Amino acid sequence: MSKENTIPDISVVVPLFNEEESLPELTGWIRRVMEANGFSYEIIFVNDGSTDGSERVIERLAEENPCIRAVAFARNYGKSPALNVGFARARGRVVITMDADLQDSPDEIPELYRMITEDGYDLVSGWKKKRYDPLSKTIPTKLFNATARRVSGIHNLHDFNCGLKAYRSEVVKHIEVYGDMHRYIPYLAKNAGYTRIGEKVVHHQARKYGTTKFGLDRFVNGYLDLATLWFQSRFGIKPMHIFGLLGSAMFVIGFLAVLTLIVMKIVSMVNPSYAFYLTNSVYFYLSLAAMIMGLQFFLTGFTGELITRNSPERNNYLISSEI
Ligand code: UDP
Ligand code: MG
Repeated sequence: MSKENTIPDISVVVPLFNEEESLPELTGWIRRVMEANGFSYEIIFVNDGSTDGSERVIERLAEENPCIRAVAFARNYGKSPALNVGFARARGRVVITMDADLQDSPDEIPELYRMITEDGYDLVSGWKKKRYDPLSKTIPTKLFNATARRVSGIHNLHDFNCGLKAYRSEVVKHIEVYGDMHRYIPYLAKNAGYTRIGEKVVHHQARKYGTTKFGLDRFVNGYLDLATLWFQSRFGIKPMHIFGLLGSAMFVIGFLAVLTLIVMKIVSMVNPSYAFYLTNSVYFYLSLAAMIMGLQFFLTGFTGELITRNSPERNNYLISSEI
């Protein structure tokens, strides 16, 4: 398959940041697998602002192999933006993403391809059942995946963030990966309406060259992103449903507090031994705080609704059939 306008069987999208040592080996390996299985293919390297010699290596590889296409960012934007750009350019029937560092094995490609084309999956995620990463990474990852499973409702996935994944081409054209959301692509796909999500145990290797490009902040950011996604999928297009509820709850609390104050005042007027200063009462402060918070929740809700009205996503539905 070359750069003309024919649809290859497989697009391999490879985001990379400073991976010059790995690229020749990775390319050779992918090529061997493709040729052995008779797949037409393209490899799309997305150079995420590498500062080493990656770009030169890619140029050299592309000269030797017409199946290689490449995009280079002017600076380092992150793995998610790199995937997004790769997805936009991918032309293959099946799109496979793979890390550039040789931790994922191209030998998995044929089976992943088969699961998409024959078993009817929209997305198949790799599962690094036996991982070759330091403990500082594998233990938090287990926790992270357990949370992601619960929140996303995708209970059959063990490894959300595996770099090796396969997609029906339509799926990658209908999801937008931004920020650090590459950790949750299955959740993004599910929210877009692609629910046939499968998993395949894949071989994993220790990083051969270079070092990991993510630090420990990955876990903090990972959880925050999960919270965002959860919120978006529950209330993204109807923010008033949550903020209105919270606001109403606050008003009820405030109202009850005021009511209590009034009753206490009346009682103290009848029986002066119960006399008290309003400003000494906890109910006074409770009512103040609750009313102010209630108002803020409502205002946030209204503002959210106004933003949603302007969102291009508000009427985005995935239609599965039409007659
Ligand atoms: N990567 C990228 N941009 C970044 C960070 C990473 O394109 O800002 C690529 C990196 O080159 C590799 C893949 O994303 O191909 C996974 O990164 P890494 O192997 O460092 O992550 P880990 O395996 O440690 O989770
Ligand atoms: Mg890696």
